[in-house]
Amino acid sequence: MKLPFAESYRIKMVESIRRTTREEREKWIADVKYNLFSLRTSQVFIDLLTDSGTGAMSDRQWSEMMLGDEGYAGSSSYYKLKDTIKEITGFDYFLPTHQGRAAENVLFSALVKEGDIVPGNSHFDTTKAHIEFRKAHAVDCTIDEAFDTTLDHPFKGNVDVEKLENVLENNSKEKIPLIIITITCNSSGGQPVSLKNMREVSAIAKKYDIPVYCDSARFAENAYFIKIREEGYSDVSIRDIVKEMFSYADGMTMSSKKDAIVNMGGFIGFKYKEIFDKASVYNILFEGFITYGGMSGRDMNAVAQGLFDGTEFDYLETRINQVAYLGQLLKDAGVPVQYPFGGHAIFVDAKRFLPNIPKEEFIAQTLAVELYIEGGVRGVEIGSIMADRDFETGLNRYPDLELMRLAIPRRVYTNDHMNYVAASLINVFDRRKTITKGFRITKEAPILRHFTVELERI
Ligand SMILES: *Cc1c(COP(=O)(O)O)cnc(C)c1O
Repeated sequence: MKLPFAESYRIKMVESIRRTTREEREKWIADVKYNLFSLRTSQVFIDLLTDSGTGAMSDRQWSEMMLGDEGYAGSSSYYKLKDTIKEITGFDYFLPTHQGRAAENVLFSALVKEGDIVPGNSHFDTTKAHIEFRKAHAVDCTIDEAFDTTLDHPFKGNVDVEKLENVLENNSKEKIPLIIITITCNSSGGQPVSLKNMREVSAIAKKYDIPVYCDSARFAENAYFIKIREEGYSDVSIRDIVKEMFSYADGMTMSSKKDAIVNMGGFIGFKYKEIFDKASVYNILFEGFITYGGMSGRDMNAVAQGLFDGTEFDYLETRINQVAYLGQLLKDAGVPVQYPFGGHAIFVDAKRFLPNIPKEEFIAQTLAVELYIEGGVRGVEIGSIMADRDFETGLNRYPDLELMRLAIPRRVYTNDHMNYVAASLINVFDRRKTITKGFRITKEAPILRHFTVELERI
């Protein structure tokens, strides 16, 4: 018999979670004005809101915590992380920050000014917000295939090099401070970018003399997909693929809460000292001195170990197999999910799931509320609430895709939990024709409104 797949770790510590009743959930979700971010975790049975900072650290990471050096300047933890980042990514210079958006804030303070244009592949929401906060524009140059959830394509995160070249050709170099490659591309569904594509983007960027930065939250998952899917890489190690990926960039921003498997942390990697020096000023201003940047020494140690844990093939195989396991259960039941499955999450195509709800009534949010009521499973809307209003016209933006994301925390849930999630969503799918009304907004913030938005049923 062929041996089945099994997780590459065993469990040493557990945390209790509680199932709740449908009546409780109906009351709780109404109490928080249908905003899933406002629920308490005690009101959630399986929490797939995000894979950010929700992973389980390894015994090796916890032992590193005990070795943290809390010196303000020049701690051994800083140097441990610096050496690890050099070893894993190849970048000589780095700044610690407290999370990924802080890395964006520091880097963009040094690079982006009003009126600038920042092309990339479906910028992540905080990335886009930090660009727009500076009155600059994020231009999405993702390949068109990414927006058809049914299309099978191995690298739906790829940058469309023609779209990119168009932007570079039609704008002055002074207006384009950087190109961002998001690996994997979160907003288009956790979809990977191929090395071939990164090589091409890098060549175009060189031609126009514009730096390339990787938004690298899930760089290790991206490397796994390259190993599995890209021709010529099946025998190359994850670490060597990671090295090659970053060789095409001038720097990186990192949310360590993803592929470094810690609960809080981030950093920026730089190839050149000149820009590192410029960004250091802002790091000190916003984050803290350059050898800690908003991080405890022990947390920098955990990030360093997490970068090694997170780039192990066996771990990545376990993780990505679990995400695909959930995806396959849903796909087999006919639930419209994005295909191929993403690295960190399953994305449910809400427009196809709930075709009777007009886009003005927030389709993906409606689905996320229904799933919570059905099984106490918390997903998240990646649709027109998250897309915010256009900052110039003030009109709602309706992205091509209305998605509900089910993000899987790293090393946290078992496949029994995945069975439960699938059953909950399939139950909603079976009664989808009875869901005919969505929501209207009663209160919203001017930017990143999804975190605090309040809604009422139509
Ligand atoms: C999570 C994430 C960020 C922001 O990082 P935080 O740690 O949440 O601030 C930026 N880009 C991508 C692609 C991400 O997934």
